[in-house]
Amino acid sequence: MTEPLLGLPEGERPLNAARPESERAELLRWMFDRVHEEYGDRTHEPRREPMHELISTILSQRTTARDEDAAYGELRQLGDWDAIIETPTELVAHAIRRSNYPESKAPRIQATLRAIREQRGGYDLDFLAEMPVKDAMKWLTDLPGVGLKTASLVLLFNYARPVFPVDTHVHRVSTRVGAIPRMGEQAAHRALLRLLPPDPPFLYELHLNLLRHGQRVCTWTRPRCPACVLRERCDAHAIYGNNVPSFGEKPGKG
Ligand code: SF4
Repeated sequence: MTEPLLGLPEGERPLNAARPESERAELLRWMFDRVHEEYGDRTHEPRREPMHELISTILSQRTTARDEDAAYGELRQLGDWDAIIETPTELVAHAIRRSNYPESKAPRIQATLRAIREQRGGYDLDFLAEMPVKDAMKWLTDLPGVGLKTASLVLLFNYARPVFPVDTHVHRVSTRVGAIPRMGEQAAHRALLRLLPPDPPFLYELHLNLLRHGQRVCTWTRPRCPACVLRERCDAHAIYGNNVPSFGEKPGKG
């Protein structure tokens, strides 16, 4: 049991976000167990081949899963990756129009494909399975259209490497419970990874179950706290009770 921080009135628990890293690491293991009990086992298996994962994740930014799939399907109708590089960018943007911001994603996708071909002579990413994780992450994030989330998804999902993708749901749930203090998604990748064991099956299951929890219970607006298995140790619930404000929004007066 953790000793209360000095200076707090008796009976009040310190917020998780203010606790040392070792305690927040323990909190994340507790969260893993709770969402595991709620949503069950997640056996690790790649959901799609590596290039599909990479390009689809670029398409997924600010886009629903349905529109992401539709955009990817139309993109692939333009031909193989070489053909997509050679296609006029406006036509690539048209093909991916179901994804948000197609005009900025189309040149990024083409630049990413071009960089992969130039560096690897093709589109086989399996060398990432053997590279040191740090180098693999750097190689991917040095590509023009690839950020930490996309790189982490490819490395964890396709190659079972010990990294932790932080999407909007994982970020929101982890922040509200207090596993990490408030910070942006990019910084949250590094902060959470420091607290988690380098165990790919654990990381895979935690990612998927927190994502599901964020979609179903700890939603952006009006989270369903009374039905939440994380409630007992959640900072946001300790502060606001069942009226947790929308994520990213400052709480109103009173
Ligand atoms: S108690 Fe509420 S705010 Fe906390 S994790 Fe659960 S749903 Fe989210």
